[in-house]
Amino acid sequence: MAVNPFLEVVNLRCRFGGVDALRDVSFSLSKESITTVIGPNGAGKSTLLGCISGEFKPKKGKVFLENKEITGAKAWKVPALGIARTFQIPRVVSHLNTFDNVFLPIYAKSRGVGSKKMAAEKAAHMLELCGLIDQSDLEAKELSTAQTRRLELARAMGLNPRLLLLDEPLGGLSPTQVDETLELILKLRSLGITVVAVEHVVRAALEIADSAIFLSNGQLIGEGEPREVLAREDIVEMYLGG
Ligand code: ADP
Ligand code: MG
Repeated sequence: MAVNPFLEVVNLRCRFGGVDALRDVSFSLSKESITTVIGPNGAGKSTLLGCISGEFKPKKGKVFLENKEITGAKAWKVPALGIARTFQIPRVVSHLNTFDNVFLPIYAKSRGVGSKKMAAEKAAHMLELCGLIDQSDLEAKELSTAQTRRLELARAMGLNPRLLLLDEPLGGLSPTQVDETLELILKLRSLGITVVAVEHVVRAALEIADSAIFLSNGQLIGEGEPREVLAREDIVEMYLGG
């Protein structure tokens, strides 16, 4: 357990129909850390992110961000809490160009308080950070898988998150692109952001994560230093079996 938890999840349960996708999951993590969520398909990893980001309403349990309860916060209110996320299947606006994909959420969030110019500068900064500035005028649907993932990241970063939830940010990437993304995630942490990333690339967990959470069948099976969690015999077995 983190001594001074930034995010704390307590006995979280999420049910879809008759199925418990999360069963009394509890963990905590510290500020400016990278936590990786690993586990077989259907373990409840995406559901966990969805329960933190307001996409799903937990049936039971609580979520705290810096000691403030945010359980069941509505998805549209979550960016104002300082939480942004990306999805396993990226959600970008395919008919808009790359720039507008980042600019419009920033401008919408400023609700007319900030100027259009400030929003545009911020969007350009995020595109620069995510290595997409040269693609600004391309329609999102013209981007490669790796570029689309980075665009989604730039959109999330534009919301000034304190907590960034990434669902399989390495999905569909080549080994070189994996390395680039891992480097980018490390950079985001150095900017003061706390990251929770669902991973299917075990190497990524070992290379960049400060802590790992292993889920199986909706239950938290292991938590701690990634190398230790991933070395556990029961976990290796569940992973290979999944
Ligand atoms: P993971 O991301 O670890 O692969 P998920 O969180 O997507 O797993 O899914 C956990 C379980 O919850 C699975 O049994 C899945 O079928 C179910 N599930 C996930 N999302 C929904 C949903 N929106 N409606 C109904 N069942 C869902
Ligand atoms: Mg998933």
